[in-house]
Amino acid sequence: MINRELNFRGNSPLLYLISTPIGNLDEFSPRAISVLNDIDYVAAEDTRNSGSLLNKFNIKKPFIMCHEHNEEEASTKIISLLKEGKSVAYMSDAGYPAISDPGERLVARCILEGIKVSCVNGSNAALCALVCSGLPTKHFYFYGFLPSKPSERRKELETLKNREDTMIFYEAPHRIDDTLKDMKNAFGGSRRASIGRELTKAYEEFIRGTFDELCEIDPETLKGEMVIVVDKAEATKKEYSEEDVANLLLENLKTMKSKDAIASVVKLTGMPKNAVYDIYLSIK
Ligand code: SAM
Repeated sequence: MINRELNFRGNSPLLYLISTPIGNLDEFSPRAISVLNDIDYVAAEDTRNSGSLLNKFNIKKPFIMCHEHNEEEASTKIISLLKEGKSVAYMSDAGYPAISDPGERLVARCILEGIKVSCVNGSNAALCALVCSGLPTKHFYFYGFLPSKPSERRKELETLKNREDTMIFYEAPHRIDDTLKDMKNAFGGSRRASIGRELTKAYEEFIRGTFDELCEIDPETLKGEMVIVVDKAEATKKEYSEEDVANLLLENLKTMKSKDAIASVVKLTGMPKNAVYDIYLSIK
C-alpha cells in the first residue's frame, strides 16, 4: 500500500536524521541546532562523541545509544518513544547517518512502522571529496569501505575496474598504502584518482594524480581521514561482427533509403563507410 503524507503536516511521528560535521564544527547548521534544541531525545552512534558536540552548542538532551551492534534493539526503543509522541533525532559520529555509518536499519524500520523520516542536511565526506577531485561528477558510484581482507579487496576491485562512472571509496589511514597498490593493479597505473585528506580540517589536502604517481607517495605522509575518488574506465568499444552490421542495415532498410541506412550504421558502429557499404552490397 502506498504511503503518502507531508512530513511537516499532521501529528504522526517523525524521526530526524542529523548530519554532523566531518571536521569543522562551523559546518553544524543552524537548523541542526534548532531541531536538537526542540526534540526530546537524541539517539546517537556514540553518546560521548555526540555529547561533546552538543555541549559545544549548549544543548542538553537525554541520549539513546544506537550503534551497529545494537541497532535492532535500539530501533525498537526509538520507535516506541516516537509512537508515544516523543520526538527523536538520530546522529552518527560524523557526516550523514546511514552513509557507511549506522542508521539504515533504523530508517527502514521506521518506514515500515509508518513513521516519517526527515533529514537535516550538512557535511558528507564523499561529496566533499568528489566535487574537489576534478574528476567527472555527472555520474558517480559511492562504494564506501572496501573489504579489509586483501584477497577480498582485490577481488572486489576486479569487479569495479570497468565501471564507467567516477568511484568514491572511504579508507582508513593504516590501509591506504595497500589499497592504493591494489587499485593500481586493478585499474592500471595510468588511471587518475584524487585523495581528499582531512577534509574541512586545518590540514585539508587534495592529492591528484595517476595511480603510478600516488603509489610513490611516502605512506607516512598519508595520515588522518581519507576519501579516494577514482576516474571512470574508458568506455569499452563494442565490437560489431559482419552479421551484426548486416542485421542493423536490414533493420534500417525497412524504413530508410539505402544512403541513410548506411550513414546511420556508420554513425552507430564507428566503422569505415566503405566497410559498411561492402556489407550492404553483400545483402542487397
Ligand atoms: N557518515 C560519514 C559521511 O557521511 O561522510 C562517513 C563515516 S565513515 C565511518 C568514516 C570515513 O569517512 C573515514 O574513514 C573517511 O574515509 C571518511 N571521512 C570522514 N571524515 C573525513 C574527513 N574529514 N576527511 C576525509 N575523509 C573523511
